[in-house]
Amino acid sequence: MTRAYNFSAGPATLPEAVLRQAQAEMLDWNGVGASIVELSHRGAEFMAVAARAEADLRALMAIPDDYALLFMSGGATTQQALLALNFASPGQKVDYVVTGHWGKTAIKQVRPYVDVHVAADGEPGGFRDIPARDTWSLSEDAAYVHITANETIHGVEFRDTPQVDNAPLFADFSSSIASEPLDVSKYGLIYAGAQKNLGPVGISVVIVRRELLERAGQPRADIFTYASHAARDSMLNTPPTWNWYLLGLTVKWMLEQGGVAEFARRNAAKAALVYGAIDGSGGFYRNEVAPAVRSRMNIPFFLPDETLTARFVTESKSAGLLALKGHKAVGGLRASLYNALPPEAAQALVDFMRDFQRRNG
Ligand SMILES: *Cc1c(COP(=O)(O)O)cnc(C)c1O
Repeated sequence: MTRAYNFSAGPATLPEAVLRQAQAEMLDWNGVGASIVELSHRGAEFMAVAARAEADLRALMAIPDDYALLFMSGGATTQQALLALNFASPGQKVDYVVTGHWGKTAIKQVRPYVDVHVAADGEPGGFRDIPARDTWSLSEDAAYVHITANETIHGVEFRDTPQVDNAPLFADFSSSIASEPLDVSKYGLIYAGAQKNLGPVGISVVIVRRELLERAGQPRADIFTYASHAARDSMLNTPPTWNWYLLGLTVKWMLEQGGVAEFARRNAAKAALVYGAIDGSGGFYRNEVAPAVRSRMNIPFFLPDETLTARFVTESKSAGLLALKGHKAVGGLRASLYNALPPEAAQALVDFMRDFQRRNG
């Protein structure tokens, strides 16, 4: 069996070592005679797995003690809705900076509850750049300011944390969490679905400054209340134990590999290779994002026409390079280069791109 290089945007490639360990432990975890997925979440075995994953993710991301770290069922979109329910009063103003598709979905989830103010919008420029910080119109009475750290579809990312003083900064880190060192203390809240950079789909992490959990928010069910999840160590109800376990293995692997500083180095090198191949192709391949905000995680790129695009998708797949078709919202091609994608995969893609251009350019 050979594993292909998988450039999927999410659910995405996992470290081979993690899959092998999960396979080895599938029928009998740690000699208990059952799989970890078959054990109670309240038993000593799973409690240890959960606590280890939390401690390791805290270490990996240097999460300060005054931040709660929650593991929650479901995806990032659910968290987008919970932000308004937990942290803004009914009809209160919230500021959103929209730099791509996911910034728009974030707004869609809170519209029924709050007064959304779009403080800056990259859409008129086709989401090819991030509006400069000094052009944002932030509100004095906002409950929070929301950004998307990395836009998975449009391929733009914040290279630095923007300074905002009017309200706590909330950020969707679904596709770039743990990809480089980050000063968590600059944020009120960070959330991410795990299936891009942290593990399997079905679980999300929320990192939130504890004092924010005291906000009244909106009338809502207990199960939608972050403070309740925090008070019960994310075991308010049955958590997604399998996903939590796999996330834990993935985080442990990242620590063993050298942590976020090492991944920042690898990710920069992978992205430089692919952008280099695009920019050095004499216009055969195009990426239209302003160089200063080009994503190192997701690279959308385009060929001169649709026929070539379809051929590229088919031939790259045959060559063992999976999932390079672009998202339907923008078309073209897209390479996702998450932490678990090995550097050799980026090299193989670049070699394929050069060969494809030789044959079709
Ligand atoms: C994938 C993604 C989402 C949506 O995640 P779901 O888990 O499908 O809800 C939201 N934001 C960003 C930045 C993403 O990459």
